[in-house]
Amino acid sequence: MSEATNAPVQEFEYKAEMKQLLHLIIHSLYTHPEVFLRELVSNASDALNKVRFMQVRNLPVLQPEAELRITIDIDEANQNLSIEDTGVGMTREDLIERIGTVASSGTLEFLSKAKSGEEKFDGGELIGKFGVGFYSVFMVTEEVTIETRSANPDEKAWRWTSRGEGKYTIEEIDRKERGTRIFFKLKEEAKDIANEYRIKDLIKKYSNFVDFPIFIGKDKINSVSALWQRKKEDLQKEELDEFYKFVAGDFREPMDSLSLHIEGRVNFKALLFVPAEAPMGYFDPREEKSLHLYVNRVFIQDDCKDIVPEYLRFLKGVVDTEDLPLNVSREVTQSSPVTAKIREIVTNRVLGMFEDWATSDAEKYATFFKQFGNYLKLGLGSDFTNKDRLVELMRFETSKTDAGKMTSFKEYVSAMSEDQKEIYYITGESRAVVEKNPNLEYFRKNNIEVIFLTGPVDLFTITTLTDYDGKNIISTEKADIDIAKDQDADAEDALKGREAKDILTRCKEILGDRVEDVIESKRLVDSVATLVVGKTGMDAQMERMMKMMDSNFASSKKILEVNMRHPLMKNLARINSENHDDPTLVQAVEQMYQGALLVEDNLQDPVDFVRRAMEFMEKATRS
Ligand code: ADP
Ligand code: MG
Repeated sequence: MSEATNAPVQEFEYKAEMKQLLHLIIHSLYTHPEVFLRELVSNASDALNKVRFMQVRNLPVLQPEAELRITIDIDEANQNLSIEDTGVGMTREDLIERIGTVASSGTLEFLSKAKSGEEKFDGGELIGKFGVGFYSVFMVTEEVTIETRSANPDEKAWRWTSRGEGKYTIEEIDRKERGTRIFFKLKEEAKDIANEYRIKDLIKKYSNFVDFPIFIGKDKINSVSALWQRKKEDLQKEELDEFYKFVAGDFREPMDSLSLHIEGRVNFKALLFVPAEAPMGYFDPREEKSLHLYVNRVFIQDDCKDIVPEYLRFLKGVVDTEDLPLNVSREVTQSSPVTAKIREIVTNRVLGMFEDWATSDAEKYATFFKQFGNYLKLGLGSDFTNKDRLVELMRFETSKTDAGKMTSFKEYVSAMSEDQKEIYYITGESRAVVEKNPNLEYFRKNNIEVIFLTGPVDLFTITTLTDYDGKNIISTEKADIDIAKDQDADAEDALKGREAKDILTRCKEILGDRVEDVIESKRLVDSVATLVVGKTGMDAQMERMMKMMDSNFASSKKILEVNMRHPLMKNLARINSENHDDPTLVQAVEQMYQGALLVEDNLQDPVDFVRRAMEFMEKATRS
């Protein structure tokens, strides 16, 4: 322990949320208390990266010749542990602002949910997710001391002590060495961690890829190796999996990896991973800090957003290049032609990998697409260079696939009959919903495959896709669908001539401005009516989406198509020819129209609809 100076010891209070966090950490995370070691080593490694970075930029550094390393000392007899680094150290302000504050606001929220049992969690996973960080040390000890001296030659050295109970103290000390030493006595429950073999094991498990040597006493215990510098053939699966877990902060194995050694107009090496699962949402914290940029093996950024396009952000791993300056800033990585070239090559190779899976291992590709398909769909709207490749990578369920099974455009087109000139899709909330849509009846009956678009992202992507292989891609709802086969076989029993014309006119009169037109349907088989849109209109799903985004969005008028073979239409036509103004006729047409609205989930006023249904039932059951 370094000498204290004569300066007074100052006492500080943690902020309220910090106290709450500490309480939760100490009382909820005990399932994996040993993760504290990973947290402290990772902080030491961050601190060492920062010094290395200062040095390559020629900034003044205290003790420039000091070796960059982490040293762990174990005193088994007294259950003491100390972790020391020669990194940037901390100023007094750092100690107050960085050590006394909660890192991410999401952490507290998640922790309290976990505690109240709302969310299941695993201590290790949790810390990996949110970086509870330094404070995890209070799982294994009652009191922690930090002695630190900043790498800035003008700063003094400080001692920080806390029992994690709401208070901490800071005093000036007489420490000469640059860097930070953290030490503490292990609690009774955690005393078996004070064991050389145990510590070695933990370092191997959690911190094997730290880019600085870790010593226990005089022995170096980790294998400092830049895995991405090695050729793919020399990499073992176990090593790759471990490395992935290390960079991605994930506890599962990755789906696959891609190693690139590129020489030419731009030079770089990369080791990239596709995780096993997509993050929960775009704001999942694991999304960040998982694509690392190195320049000549010097760590530069841990969340380099510029080396892959937005839609491939789910990739994790490392890109290391000689072609950027070491003091590269965010602005430079954004605009540099080197990053642009790297991005182009990485995208090309990654898409190539997906294409390989798609051709040689359809099952693997399907698993991948279920996880990351939405990302690729976003790419369809943004990566115009690779649009054709992305289109081929699309998969979707159709009226001919079993639930959960998917097909491609290529397969769809090769299964089309010669008469079919267009590619059809139908949109809806889920497979179950679209399967019941009356607009599907005609296609079913004529054995025409229809693509099911059921995710919110699908609706946007389909607007960017107008055709494939020279064939228009159109909604089953579009009124003037080019129906090749006609309905002759059934047409005999349909309403025809004057009677048909009159009932269509009467329907239009009753519905007035609410519909664009009322016409005879070619697509309905069992249902009596359906709403469709003209060539320029949007289909129902798309329109609902637009309304969600813009409350002033005006719907386009629909066309009501009616089934002239349906007994109800025949009855209505008969009533119409007897009495034009029959109230039952008016009510029935209303009900038919509102029923069609209800099916596409656009009925505003169900009360009216239900009331009318009751009246009809009452009439039907009258004795
Ligand atoms: P995180 O590492 O996610 O920022 P931590 O709780 O692990 O969160 O650490 C909080 C902060 O304390 C770090 O960001 C860093 O500024 C500082 N810190 C922790 N350990 C060290 C260390 N060994 N050397 C220098 N600074 C450190
Ligand atoms: Mg940390």
